[in-house]
Amino acid sequence: MTNDSALKPATLAANMPGNEPADGAVVPAWQPATTYENRAESGFSYLRGDGPVFADAERRLAALERGVGALLFASGMAAADAVFRSLPAGSHVVIPEVMYWALRGWLHDERSHLDLRVDMVANGNAEALRNALKPGETTLVWIETPANPTWEVTDIAEAAALAHAAGALLAVDSTVATPILTRPIEMGADIVMHSATKYLNGHSDVLAGALISARDDEFWSRVRNCRMQGGAVPGTFEAWLLVRGMRTLAVRVERASANAQALAERLDGHPGVVEVLYPGLPSHPGHDIAKAQMQGGFSGMMSIRVSGGFDGAAKVAASTRLFRQATSLGGVESLIEHRAPVEGPDSPVPDDLLRLSVGIEDADDLYQDLAQALSLIQ
Ligand SMILES: *Cc1c(COP(=O)(O)O)cnc(C)c1O
Repeated sequence: MTNDSALKPATLAANMPGNEPADGAVVPAWQPATTYENRAESGFSYLRGDGPVFADAERRLAALERGVGALLFASGMAAADAVFRSLPAGSHVVIPEVMYWALRGWLHDERSHLDLRVDMVANGNAEALRNALKPGETTLVWIETPANPTWEVTDIAEAAALAHAAGALLAVDSTVATPILTRPIEMGADIVMHSATKYLNGHSDVLAGALISARDDEFWSRVRNCRMQGGAVPGTFEAWLLVRGMRTLAVRVERASANAQALAERLDGHPGVVEVLYPGLPSHPGHDIAKAQMQGGFSGMMSIRVSGGFDGAAKVAASTRLFRQATSLGGVESLIEHRAPVEGPDSPVPDDLLRLSVGIEDADDLYQDLAQALSLIQ
């Protein structure tokens, strides 16, 4: 018998022991019931609280992230919302300047309603984080690494040590790294958040989110209550599809990372490209930290800044065929997006930046597609 806790993420994602249906099927069953008889041995009662498909997905997520428990949510934003809503009223929180733009915008707009004081610090800058922390008042440090869409890298162990010294929790949006490349709880993080809409599901057909906790403590029970009362759970079929998608997580992430690495190297120095932003390039400022805390690749996400400023970027985004011009990321198909017009005037993102979600197609086909689009602006 293998020791399950020693199993590697690729094995846990594809074939986790302990989840077999009683009838011997090798895939999990879909159970759509919203309510359970009171005498049920399973302990399930009403689907807003829990259900077998959620529990299955959550066991897999907790094992993959080396946490004690996981909770599924209706979306990544619903998962993040539950973390911030579970903090004590009047809390001070520290977030990065570059992060998922909708979450930054929501925190900025709603901070007084949420009764939170929010400070932003430069990504990956330990000195700035140390200075922003207010011991006894800061309850949460939120980081995202690599950070969407410029892919700055934050040292998770260092951020955890600083947060804990100030009495705060560290939460990590690990949507882009996935548990295949990085496991933040092993580095000291308290909470890991995913937009499961992205790599975890991987097929651009499920909206879902997840939180994983390092400890079963009072904060985690507040988060659990917040989900149960607020009801931000996915549908049972979405949760089932998420488990189905997660079974190929390792091969998808490895292939997307290898493709992104190949593209980053070929585009670096291309005459239509001003800069390639990818932690897998040795010239990237976060490369050494990324190398230490990401295993097996640097993710399928990268950005390029192109010649011709805003108009050049708009032209390239409109001229690719394989890279579909669309938002979101982490699917098997490649996507391209001009971020500045999406994020608006308050965004720190440069005008000429194109975000690439590199899929699992052939790397040479992807390069040729970008090269023909870039040839239009040279
Ligand atoms: C998409 C995304 C989110 C939000 O997730 P939804 O599932 O769209 O609500 C949060 N963080 C990151 C890094 C994302 O890419």
